[in-house]
Amino acid sequence: MDVSGQIKVLVWFEGSQDWQTIYTAPKSQCDVYASCGPFTVCNDVPSPSCSCLRGYSIRSPQDWELDDRTGGCARNTPLYCSANITRVGKADKFYPMTSVKLPVDARNVGTATTADECSLVCLGSCSCTAYSYDQSGCFIWHDKLLNIQQQGNNILHLRLAAKEVQSSNTHRRGPITGVAIGASVAIVGLIFLWMLWMRKGRWHGDNVQGGMGIIAFRYADLQHATNKFEDKLGAGSFGSVFKGSLTDSTTIAVKRLDGFRQGEKQFRAEVSSTGVIQHVNLVKLIGFCCQGDKRLLVYEYMPNGSLDSHLFQSNGMVLDWTRRYQIALGIARGLSFLHASCRDCIIHCDIKPENILLDGSFTPKVTDFGMGKLLRRDFSHVVTTMRGTIGYLAPEWISGTPITPEVDVYSYGMVLLETISGNRNSSKQSFCQDGVHEAYFPVRVAHSLLDGDIATLIDAKLLGEVNQEEVERVCKVACWCIQDVEFGRPTMSEVVQFLECVCEVETPPMPRLLQAIAGQPNSRIM
Ligand code: ADP
Repeated sequence: MDVSGQIKVLVWFEGSQDWQTIYTAPKSQCDVYASCGPFTVCNDVPSPSCSCLRGYSIRSPQDWELDDRTGGCARNTPLYCSANITRVGKADKFYPMTSVKLPVDARNVGTATTADECSLVCLGSCSCTAYSYDQSGCFIWHDKLLNIQQQGNNILHLRLAAKEVQSSNTHRRGPITGVAIGASVAIVGLIFLWMLWMRKGRWHGDNVQGGMGIIAFRYADLQHATNKFEDKLGAGSFGSVFKGSLTDSTTIAVKRLDGFRQGEKQFRAEVSSTGVIQHVNLVKLIGFCCQGDKRLLVYEYMPNGSLDSHLFQSNGMVLDWTRRYQIALGIARGLSFLHASCRDCIIHCDIKPENILLDGSFTPKVTDFGMGKLLRRDFSHVVTTMRGTIGYLAPEWISGTPITPEVDVYSYGMVLLETISGNRNSSKQSFCQDGVHEAYFPVRVAHSLLDGDIATLIDAKLLGEVNQEEVERVCKVACWCIQDVEFGRPTMSEVVQFLECVCEVETPPMPRLLQAIAGQPNSRIM
């Protein structure tokens, strides 16, 4: 039995990976005894809802807010409670509720043979709250009225203070006018929605625009958009990514999740976080497909691929310094948004060049943040499951201390260093220069900064065409980001300010862990 008061039998379906209810008793939630509390009317359509009877108001709005309706409603105006019909105007009156299912616990009054007699019997007892009279006779109710339902073919005469019934008559014009206005607004709204829908239909077939502004695609449409998944852009840990085109010529990247059960978590995480977060430096989720066991995610297409391919693979094109600097700034802005600007804080946990995509004008877009960790603003939740990539992991992942957004700052620092050198920090080239054994690159950067010599750190492919001041600033920021203790690192919004030249960057101290490694040139750190 769940909170609805209904007994349910649920079966787990492997195919849809979901619970299906196969038996419910009672069938309607409105039939659960006192489910809405006293003096309410329960309506099962379109979904179970409770509302107060005329002349009554919610007894405890706080409980009602928390979906606890059992307190029901309380009378607004006390009953006059007199059968003295000579005092017309003061005596209680009856308000007829039509088309209802009568409340439980009725008492049959065999002595009353007309509707008037039945109403007088009720007025004669101060505890009588309602009566009903039809071919089956007179029925009255004392005290609480429970389980009145909106669907039915009975008339319940509700006993109210006279002024409540009068006000219900005088207000009758109000609802009618309201209904007329409401209907007009609804019709105009429907026409507007229909026009919108028609436009969408022309763009994306019959796909449905999701509530969050993302589109629910049909599998057949994505099959068509990708030419039956012909043009593969790459493969990741959860599936392959294909290039496609929508009917309005928008180019898309469609990620088809393999082995749908293991990808299900990623799918849900992506749709619920990436789908609602929008920033110029975060990759945009256009839509998704969830049909049978098919799970696909549709992103905006990034024609320049991921940052690693430009930094580490010689594909003929070298990213110039200005672009590298703008990319560093863009990633910082995207991360700063994830950490600070959303309602909850998202820690990416896997910042690396592979997770930075570049659009047509090389604007960086952080991707893969759907699998990041969502932390409440107060950081009350402790992240325990590990995520990330060797070479970019902050030391606290190993030490077991709670994970904070500063793990991303550390990884970002590592990416900055790779942006300067054009090599993986942990690659052979970083350890050997012209056949001579060199220290671990981050250590060299820290030393060079302290020695005031950074020229040897710069990617040779740039042929010296760099802005020295900017290189020095990036080196300093990177070195601050990879400090061992997270409190020693800047926040991502501070990084943005440093790179935007809003704040002066001081020379960072040598990170202690790196200092230890500096004495052992063959060692590699995380
Ligand atoms: P992973 O799961 O390892 O993070 P992804 O599945 O996200 O990798 O992506 C695999 C590859 O597909 C990426 O390396 C990239 O080259 C390509 N890719 C992913 N998303 C896009 C996109 N939006 N536009 C263009 N290429 C993309």
